[in-house]
Amino acid sequence: KFDRYRFYNESIRRQLFLEKDIESCMGSALENKEFKVYYQPKVDLKTNQIVCSEALARWQKADGTVIPPSDFIPVFEKNRTIPQLDQYVFESVCVWLRKLLDEGKPVLPVSINVSRLQFCNMDFVETYAGIKKSYAIPDGLLEIEFTESVMFDNWERLTSIVDQLHSCGFACSIDDFGKGYSSLGMFKNLNVDVLKIDALFFHNLETEEKDRLLVESIIQLVRQFGVKTVAEGIETREQIEILKHMRCDYIQGYVYYKPMPQKEYEKLLLQLFPLCAQEAVTVCPV
Ligand code: C2E
Ligand code: MG
Ligand code: MG
Repeated sequence: KFDRYRFYNESIRRQLFLEKDIESCMGSALENKEFKVYYQPKVDLKTNQIVCSEALARWQKADGTVIPPSDFIPVFEKNRTIPQLDQYVFESVCVWLRKLLDEGKPVLPVSINVSRLQFCNMDFVETYAGIKKSYAIPDGLLEIEFTESVMFDNWERLTSIVDQLHSCGFACSIDDFGKGYSSLGMFKNLNVDVLKIDALFFHNLETEEKDRLLVESIIQLVRQFGVKTVAEGIETREQIEILKHMRCDYIQGYVYYKPMPQKEYEKLLLQLFPLCAQEAVTVCPV
């Protein structure tokens, strides 16, 4: 018993040490551009083509080690610095899209995660719209992903923010639907474009009929509200076939692509769409 107590204590101490370390490095990491944006393509189930991607933050330390978001995001949320990272990722995406547009390379829409704290920031829409404008990013190329927890206690604000974002040329999605306290009732008033259904719904899709019924009902219901569906965390061909049958719109999962560095994604787009940027955008709008 005594041994166990000591072990528990030691692991907490190590965890706190790690958190302190991550916390103290954030400022310099931002300055030194140690945060990188990876891109994970989303594939249209009807055409099997990439239609857009999600921007995902990675922390690449000077020694080359890559820290996943699960290690640093909870720390930044706890010390309330996450909005800085969100904005950094957003601006990095704008910089990259501008570069591709200037070079006449193919571009597709990109979705960006926004934390609960960023959402609570009163200047949020103005700031993001300002950055979009300063890089002259065309409407329809940027999508903001809100986790379902944001609408929980501030439902009216979310509705108003989505409307404001729409008027500034952004698309909006609800991320991780089903992970927390989601309600399908929200689609009555909320004018979002995309619903991202959490991976947990798909783990037993092949074996559990109730899971299949649940997913199919969600997809069918929100389609009637004009909302597109993305299935997250898809890893098998069997899952793809089932989702195709259910008429899910897009797949984001390792079965197609893992998140990849910017350069790699850029190369992939060039291979798949050896056309000019404008054409690629019109082929696959959000
Ligand atoms: P998310 O926004 O739901 O992003 C999807 C996560 O699922 C990504 O994890 C992605 O790598 C992972 N994923 C995609 N397909 C598969 C699959 O087939 N199998 C498995 N096992 N995983 C899959 P990642 O990149 O580790 O990010 C985790 C979470 O961190 C994200 O979940 C998002 O909530 C958060 N995050 C990442 N970047 C940012 C950011 O810039 N700002 C904020 N606020 N949060 C971010
Ligand atoms: Mg997301
Ligand atoms: Mg998600």
